[in-house]
Amino acid sequence: MTIFEKIIRREIPADIVWEDEDVLAFRDVNPQAPVHVLIVPKRVVPRLAETTEADQALLGKLLLAARAVAEKLDLATSGYRVVINSGPDAGETVPHLHVHVLGKRPLAWPPG
Ligand code: AMP
Repeated sequence: MTIFEKIIRREIPADIVWEDEDVLAFRDVNPQAPVHVLIVPKRVVPRLAETTEADQALLGKLLLAARAVAEKLDLATSGYRVVINSGPDAGETVPHLHVHVLGKRPLAWPPG
């Protein structure tokens, strides 16, 4: 079981900022910006590379959750970045699909 599944099951603590029946959003323990939130599906999906057409609604929910979190945390006007790391070259470290939402500082482009 991944650390995110343990957070979803409330077996380990997290700073939860938003939740609905399908997704959970909590603050990253090692934030890379003043606001750094992870949004995860409650159902186990390892990574974007392993999603299928059957995950269309869930993937849409994750992006709409990113928008909702950004609005709740006052990022809508200043802006924010949404990131999904899928696989080794992207630096994925937790094999449970997650969307990063980063904001409250200017973010460089291209990423490292
Ligand atoms: P990634 O590198 O895209 O797989 O992102 C995984 C993220 O999970 C990293 O930014 C970590 O800091 C974060 N992380 C790992 N463990 C925890 C935890 N227990 N609570 C919150 N965030 C975590």
